[in-house]
Amino acid sequence: MKIKAAVVFETSGDFSIEQLEISEPKDDEVLVRIAAVGICHTDLAGRDGHLPIPPPPSVFGHEGAGVVERVGRRVTKVKPGDHVVLAWDYCGACTACKSGKVLYCLNFFLHNFHGTRPDGTTTLSKGDQAIHGSFFCQSSFADFALANERNVVKVRDDIPLEILGPMGCGIMTGAGAVMNTLQPRPGASIAVFGIGNVGMSAILSAVVCGCTTIIAVDIHSDRLEIARELGATHTVNAGEVNPVEAILDITGGGAEFSLECVGNPKVFRQAVDVLPRLGVCGLTGVVPPGTEVSLNMDLIMNGRTVKGILGGDAIPDLFIPKLIELYCQGRFPFDRLITFYPFDEINREVEDMEQGHVIKPVLRL
Ligand SMILES: [Zn+2]
Ligand SMILES: [Zn+2]
Repeated sequence: MKIKAAVVFETSGDFSIEQLEISEPKDDEVLVRIAAVGICHTDLAGRDGHLPIPPPPSVFGHEGAGVVERVGRRVTKVKPGDHVVLAWDYCGACTACKSGKVLYCLNFFLHNFHGTRPDGTTTLSKGDQAIHGSFFCQSSFADFALANERNVVKVRDDIPLEILGPMGCGIMTGAGAVMNTLQPRPGASIAVFGIGNVGMSAILSAVVCGCTTIIAVDIHSDRLEIARELGATHTVNAGEVNPVEAILDITGGGAEFSLECVGNPKVFRQAVDVLPRLGVCGLTGVVPPGTEVSLNMDLIMNGRTVKGILGGDAIPDLFIPKLIELYCQGRFPFDRLITFYPFDEINREVEDMEQGHVIKPVLRL
């Protein structure tokens, strides 16, 4: 079948809209007509060769949402016409998967970063040339994407599909870090470092959890303003003041919870240094492999916890429908973070994202 996809032909090159061939769904696969797809920094890391993935030509995109077009013979989870969000894939058989921690799958790379299906077969081609696809088992910068039954999440069909794609990565990550991992009780204090789509989702979630001191930390004053509109009770511009001193001052001794959403050792250190005794710091920011940080051991010794978090510790099939329910009740207005672009303007979208003009850009197909 012919599809339209955004292809990267060389490392760090532009996206080029091309007609490609996509293979038929195998027995456990689902072909999805993509309605809209978010762009995440991991797509750009892939484009720039910073991920352990094969070289271009490649199709990225891992925040797709759409309608099931066709399913493989053995698929029972969804049927044609169902609305779905695409999330990360996993093997379902390793010890992490078996214990319900599917986003920590020990075979993550094989299922998300190999440019092919786990069995080595390709899903995309242009004439005789194989194109690397199966990025997060979707490669959804395209009007159709092949996913596995495992990583499609069925969602209710009475809300606009085009806002739901980012649920599969960025929104799930920030919301889950607070609701699933940190689990602040009502009345707690939390400081969120880095207010992109992950940090903003964390702030929305802190409101849901009943936190009464919610501190947003960033260097962009326009983002801090939006954070305040979404429920932050305090904002700290780390470009103007020392954020550690400011947060110790606001909280009178430390934020019980903190979340690093930047991927920067200096910011991570600050997020730990603002904790009081028994405080917990979560880490969601992505850094290049091998990045090290120095921490005050004596501080951590006094009952503090530092916890790395992937994908918001979520089980996507359970967590994404819950977030959508909260959205429908008006308690999780994540759509405020989205700016839409037409698919053909993907390069302009990427430019706006890299310059920090938008929080969560989404391509409409
Ligand atoms: Zn992502
Ligand atoms: Zn696994």
